[in-house]
Amino acid sequence: IPRSHIRNFSIIAHIDHGKSTLADRLLALGKLTDERTGKDQILDSMDIERERGITIKSNSASFYWKGENGETYLFNLIDTPGHVDFTYEVSRSLAACEGVLLLVDATQGVQAQTLANFYLALEADLYILPVINKIDLPSADVEKTRAQIEKSLGLSGTDAVPVSGKSGINVEALMQAIIDKIPAPREQDAAQGARALVFDAYFDTYRGVVEKIRVFDGEIKKGDQISFMRKGGVHPVNEIGISQLRLVPQDSLKAGEVGYVVTGIKNVAEVMLGDTITLAAKPASVPLFKYKEVKPMVFSGLFPVNGDDYPLLKESMDKLALNDPALIYEPESSEALGFGFRVGYLGLLHMEIVQERLEREFGLALLTTAPSVTYHIYFQHKPMMTLNNPAEFPDPGDIDRIEEPYVKVAIISPSEHMGAILQLLADKRGENVSMNYLDTTTVQIIYLVPLAEMIFEFYDRLKSVSRGYASLDYEFAEYRRSTLVKLDILVHGNKVDALSMIVHKSAAETRGRQVIEQLKEHISKHQFVIAIQAAVGGKVIARETISALRKNVTAKCYGGDISRKRKLLDKQKEGKKRMKMIGSVEIPQEAFLSVLKTG
Ligand code: GDP
Ligand code: MG
Repeated sequence: IPRSHIRNFSIIAHIDHGKSTLADRLLALGKLTDERTGKDQILDSMDIERERGITIKSNSASFYWKGENGETYLFNLIDTPGHVDFTYEVSRSLAACEGVLLLVDATQGVQAQTLANFYLALEADLYILPVINKIDLPSADVEKTRAQIEKSLGLSGTDAVPVSGKSGINVEALMQAIIDKIPAPREQDAAQGARALVFDAYFDTYRGVVEKIRVFDGEIKKGDQISFMRKGGVHPVNEIGISQLRLVPQDSLKAGEVGYVVTGIKNVAEVMLGDTITLAAKPASVPLFKYKEVKPMVFSGLFPVNGDDYPLLKESMDKLALNDPALIYEPESSEALGFGFRVGYLGLLHMEIVQERLEREFGLALLTTAPSVTYHIYFQHKPMMTLNNPAEFPDPGDIDRIEEPYVKVAIISPSEHMGAILQLLADKRGENVSMNYLDTTTVQIIYLVPLAEMIFEFYDRLKSVSRGYASLDYEFAEYRRSTLVKLDILVHGNKVDALSMIVHKSAAETRGRQVIEQLKEHISKHQFVIAIQAAVGGKVIARETISALRKNVTAKCYGGDISRKRKLLDKQKEGKKRMKMIGSVEIPQEAFLSVLKTG
């Protein structure tokens, strides 16, 4: 297939606007369906992606399509994750394309992540073809959606292609629009040697690491020696080819083509996604893409409910990391919870996904400590310290000032909910940046909010105050000075390290009270009076007591539902019976579960 007949593109959209469904429809037209399983949503390969209907790891596939001129075109559909936690992954995948289909649900209109993704495509200098989806639904309003596309994205609304990914209406016309509108790959840069962008990688049991690549210049052949411009090191091309759901080996990949390469690397963590491959014999001088280290934004401690499961947790983390280069972890031990890991995540969704996969795929029951962000702590006479584990909080007397990360939050909502949303943002220490109307009934609100507030019940409250209509996007903005304190929890005079957290001074008392009330409910009476206290810098700010046991009084029984997942109940029951000794007080595992769940 000549370069003029190749189309490399991605579909971008707000969550649930129909990206996966449309991708399946395109692949089916291109005669690519998963014959082995007959499953739909073929590009979303992990179970958890299917269930949650989101794409976590990007995937891609090549297929052929005959245009109206009777000539055959090669389409490379490059899938991108559809969630804010994975912005860098989106930009990397977009760098492999010439254009995008920007999908907008005709019943929902433009949403927060429609805009966020639109800007990423704009930055990547791609051709943006708007597509209005779900036109089969009675509530679809194609004209209103066209108007929104014009007003809020500045794209031509009349050019937007109306389709239904589900029923297939007008999808063939969309294929032709891809041929007509999305540019063919650019001419190669003769000054450079061969260059290919590594936009993704995954671990395959038989082949080792498979790297997804887009060749921009020259040709890469089986048997070539290649090197990575950023990472360095020379590797043989053991296998090269295209992905048609299955991997199909070829002799080579040429400029403009998208495919995969296998180079004998055994661990995805060794591949720097965004790196440029070049030929070792004739190396290029300029990399294709600005490689960026992905920095975790959110941290938490992860402990097995049963201490005996620590080796299994370690093994499972190692396995998970084989396919998730963004997963960062190191051993951590806690007096209260024993051995576990301190884990860094790209964001809250990433955190949920990692925990859910560990539980689901490896049968682990886990306890997580309250999520924390990374604080910058400045001293008078020492260098700045980065802190993401509250247990390591330094002596407040030594601290000059503390800075915390703020994110820029963009919310799109029907304007009737604006009052409630502004109230929520104020509760979360937010600061107004701007507000504007996308049309007469839809408002976009932009605020600066501490990331730590975003990770604590923000999304749920936003959904509830807007009756589910508001959508949200956020990105890191800057570090700012804040009045933050470490909140300690003491049981009978002993500090419980796993329950320490860093909070804004104004929230310390409320949070402290919540925690000790939970603990009081779950700790049974002992032979002596037990004081449960919340303290800041040695000063008690909230207190509860559990009276001593009298004869013939039965101990409190532990009740309540502690798990969302049935199959974990047994393991957790086993864990629930377990007691942690904090000094001379027995604290049931369940008490930790309940407290940590509130955070
Ligand atoms: P994604 O999150 O963007 O990948 O969205 P999905 O493809 O998973 O679709 C989200 C939901 O919308 C699913 O329930 C789909 O069945 C439904 N859906 C997707 N496309 C259409 C469409 O064209 N018409 C209708 N009626 N439903 C659709
Ligand atoms: Mg999807």
